[in-house]
Amino acid sequence: MLKKMPSLSLFDQTRYRCLFLTAVLLAFAFSVAAWEHHPLLTEPVLETISETESFTPAAAVTLEDFLSAVEGPLAVFLAEEEAWAREHLPWYAPCPEELDFVATGNPDDIRARFFQAIRINPNTKTPLYFSVLSGNDIQGATLLSPEEFTLFPDAAALESFDFVSLLPGGVLNAQDIIATASNEPDYGMDTGLFEDNDTDFGRRYGFGLQPFGNPGLDYGSQAPFHMGFYHESPLVFLFAPFLKRTYPEYRIHLFKRLSEFAFENDHDYWGWRFMGWGLHYLADLSMPYHTTVLPGYSALRMLWINFLDILGISTPVDNALQLVSNRHMAIETYQRIVMERALREGSGCAIFDALNADYDAPAYDDNLPRQVLANASNQLARQMNRTLVKYMPYDFVSNPALELGEIEGLENIVEMVAESHGVQALEELDALLADALELFAHYGRSYIADIISKR
Ligand SMILES: [Zn+2]
Repeated sequence: MLKKMPSLSLFDQTRYRCLFLTAVLLAFAFSVAAWEHHPLLTEPVLETISETESFTPAAAVTLEDFLSAVEGPLAVFLAEEEAWAREHLPWYAPCPEELDFVATGNPDDIRARFFQAIRINPNTKTPLYFSVLSGNDIQGATLLSPEEFTLFPDAAALESFDFVSLLPGGVLNAQDIIATASNEPDYGMDTGLFEDNDTDFGRRYGFGLQPFGNPGLDYGSQAPFHMGFYHESPLVFLFAPFLKRTYPEYRIHLFKRLSEFAFENDHDYWGWRFMGWGLHYLADLSMPYHTTVLPGYSALRMLWINFLDILGISTPVDNALQLVSNRHMAIETYQRIVMERALREGSGCAIFDALNADYDAPAYDDNLPRQVLANASNQLARQMNRTLVKYMPYDFVSNPALELGEIEGLENIVEMVAESHGVQALEELDALLADALELFAHYGRSYIADIISKR
């Protein structure tokens, strides 16, 4: 196939690129949440680090009060942050000048001014609260309903947790603030930000057209902020350069620096909370399905099925996209069930062992998320794909005629694997997840230690 390519006319080449784009556009129509419920991952990491780092409790402060207290320095800080992103991030879409944060002293619109300057969904909720596994009866607790903290109230994973409301001034452990916050980027702040998402802010934010994923799906529009395809073959990038337009590094740097800025200004509550926001994207990059376009498909195979698509044979591409989407959802559901059960039963598991281990974390630098973390996670993709295909139910991961989100029985996935392949299959799957999450434990620790060292 490759030999044929140079003989394509310019028209054909353009058509080829466009068609490849069309095909991959569909790739992320489903399941882009990555690890299900990040506090499950964040808590054990914090628990270990707390033995050596100083996590101090903090009194909750509303976002508006925090912003008003630091308004002047914040304007300077955000201008510096924009300059950093323009200088250091390839493919960065600069923030339009009219969105710049200007210190006007008006508390009524300070939240909106901040959200537009950091270009998140203006409807993002930031109540004062913390999340715990459901079933812990907390005396006198007022629980938040999902509508009060997320733009996606129907997410299945939310049912396993309670969201406990807090009044301003209520004191929380740093670990609770960080772990709770580490799920917040999945509550809709990165949705609707592109020009073709049919939102007024998407048209103003300057991110252009959504590079991949279905722009019509609310949840899908966050994919380019939570996925980082930095280590695909040059061949894939040649035909799909838009895959480089991802933004997790932008978010990680912004939230890490905001955390440091809050600490510098003696606002520890927001220091811990922004730290949690940044940790979310580091965890996402440890997920092989978030750093690899089509796990299990070589570059040549990807180009081949795309070539067939151009010839009018679209089934191989459609099947590949559906299978990858189903496998992505299957492994994340499995992860949530295994971790939640281990926690409820106090039984422990390999995944928690990996998150809990006392790693010697390397020094953090801003290239680490891309060059080290995403690279290592990308290298796990092939094996993860092979193992889940071997052990998970055929209909869940190998039948492209089915959309996994629509079929019954997904919640029984652990039992189904055990029944058909025995305990050893569970151990192998757990070990794979442990390998991926060990990356988060390792480099998440670097990130946390770096912020704390500057306090
Ligand atoms: Zn995410």
